[in-house]
Amino acid sequence: MDGALWKNAAICARISALESRCYSRKQTNNVENKSVGSDNKSAENKKDTVDFIRAIVNEDIRNNKRGGRVHTRFPPEPNGYLHIGHAKSICLNFGIAAEYSGLCNLRFDDTNPTKEEVEYVDSIKEDVRWLGFDWDEREYYASDYFQQLHDCAVRLIKDGKAYVDSLTPEQIREYRGTLTEPGTDSPYRDRSVEENLELFEGMRTGKFKEGEHVLRAKIDMSSPNLNMRDPTIYRIRFTPHHRTGSKWCIYPMYDYAHPLSDAIEGISHSICTLEFENNRPLYDWFIARMDFEESPQQIEFARLNLSYTIMSKRKLLQLVREGIVEGWDDPRMPTLSGMRRRGYTPEAIRAFADRVGVSKTNSTVDLSLLEYFIREDLNKRAPRVMAVLRPLKLIIDNYPEGKFEQLEAENNPEDPAAGTRTLPFGRILYIEREDFREDPPKKYFRLSPGREVRLKHAYYVTCTGVVKDGSTGEIQEVHCTYDPATRGGWSEDGRKVRGTLHWVSTEHALDAEVRLYDVLFSKENPEEVGEGRDFRDNLNPNSLEVLDGVRVEPSLGDAEAGSRYQFLRRGYFCADPDSRKDRPVFNRAVTLRDSWAKIEKSLQDGKQGGGTE
Ligand code: ATP
Ligand code: MG
Repeated sequence: MDGALWKNAAICARISALESRCYSRKQTNNVENKSVGSDNKSAENKKDTVDFIRAIVNEDIRNNKRGGRVHTRFPPEPNGYLHIGHAKSICLNFGIAAEYSGLCNLRFDDTNPTKEEVEYVDSIKEDVRWLGFDWDEREYYASDYFQQLHDCAVRLIKDGKAYVDSLTPEQIREYRGTLTEPGTDSPYRDRSVEENLELFEGMRTGKFKEGEHVLRAKIDMSSPNLNMRDPTIYRIRFTPHHRTGSKWCIYPMYDYAHPLSDAIEGISHSICTLEFENNRPLYDWFIARMDFEESPQQIEFARLNLSYTIMSKRKLLQLVREGIVEGWDDPRMPTLSGMRRRGYTPEAIRAFADRVGVSKTNSTVDLSLLEYFIREDLNKRAPRVMAVLRPLKLIIDNYPEGKFEQLEAENNPEDPAAGTRTLPFGRILYIEREDFREDPPKKYFRLSPGREVRLKHAYYVTCTGVVKDGSTGEIQEVHCTYDPATRGGWSEDGRKVRGTLHWVSTEHALDAEVRLYDVLFSKENPEEVGEGRDFRDNLNPNSLEVLDGVRVEPSLGDAEAGSRYQFLRRGYFCADPDSRKDRPVFNRAVTLRDSWAKIEKSLQDGKQGGGTE
């Protein structure tokens, strides 16, 4: 590699910096590796240090709990597209199942027909598959259990553990009490089993209006845990369901359906996020009231939060509905479909999820860590190409007019197997407008009058002058001469040039559109807002810049949507489905580290910039 401009080594320096900052890494929960005590010996996690969830699993296997079985599930509610937070949960659930030779189900928690749609189910399946996980034939739906869940509710009623309440929703809220005051029993709490059965049947058969009655578990209205104060388990909804149509007009609540669905499926470890910690007694209560052979264990971990990112599905839906973004797969969205369109790879997302690990305390992960993993992965696999984003004409006065030659260029210095391609070269080229300065500041090593630089894979050129627009003074052309003895971009006499520029031949270059993406929110914590404002006030007005008239090397004419490239010195880009033949559209996945921008900033800040280009 020639010159610091082309090096990726700086990126490596960055990771150690990132690594040394603690990103709530896997806990070093040392677990002995001696006797395993079951035939799952081979399945026990072999890592010396494991996170607290794997430590629980190891312990269960050692004690032969549930016969040492490991069976997890990923349980999305199909009310939106999956985001990077879900990816963490997917990697965890499918990852643990794979590590312990267990199974992981994909289960749609589709108990709320008012918000759920088939579109979301389809997108979720596509995204889980894209991430690299497979649920085989184990695609389940909570709605498949509606009959069983109903029967369990009847059983609760018969056991005196559930009752139909006829208070209004407001009254139910009032009667619930607060964190400091106990709740009050509903006057309907002591209805007879017969009356409850009859009313619940009436609810099921559509005799009552929405909100007229609900079915509640009969637990303890004075429990310090509000979740245990007779939670609602069924409500009336005359909304057709995406799978069961109009068969049901009563729907189970999530808190009731979820534990029972886990138990029905024989889940061993039910991994969920921290906000369900206080639901655990209720989770266990429902399961204990039935006769399941084994009970799943709920384990909570901290959800993934990312700086500059909103992860609530409700808010993401709002961005889509209000047209603030172009859809769920807008490349600025933290959704997996958005990230895919942007050019992120499943490998990078998995590596990121693994690095972030699991913990018991909420924290926010720096977005730059995710970007680091994207660069790291694309650096290995993305072919290098030349694209000039803001073109300026460069004319080589001593290069024969009408002559063109084909120069050889390596496709990926990180991967010799990627081979080479040819690049057409001629007398008139485009270079990047910012690669020329008539009056170069200190440490600017690109082209300027009298200065010699290298054209990547081509020749050394020396700037001889410029042509400006008479009225505006804008530079229209840069003129130079080339040294024919430097073909390939190096000189036998050993003379050094400090700058290396990318270029394309004006005659051969293709026109392209490039979409430069930046963070969607300009605040590190987009939820941090003043009185009467909301997260939308923190939107970054410059999250998208569209560049028209970008000139790219001809090999990109047949770039297929989803193909990823490194545009030399510009960043990693991905061909968008909006591309048309001979007019490709590229999304910027992530920038390279821009050393000049850093130097310039530190010069502006009055400091001496380090490094060279
Ligand atoms: P939201 O609150 O945005 O609606 P959710 O948790 O309700 O998200 P689900 O579809 O229920 O979304 O999530 C499916 C699974 O993914 C759940 O087990 C949930 O705990 C997990 N999950 C959701 N968000 C995150 C996150 N940010 N980090 C880790 N896991 C998450
Ligand atoms: Mg949820």
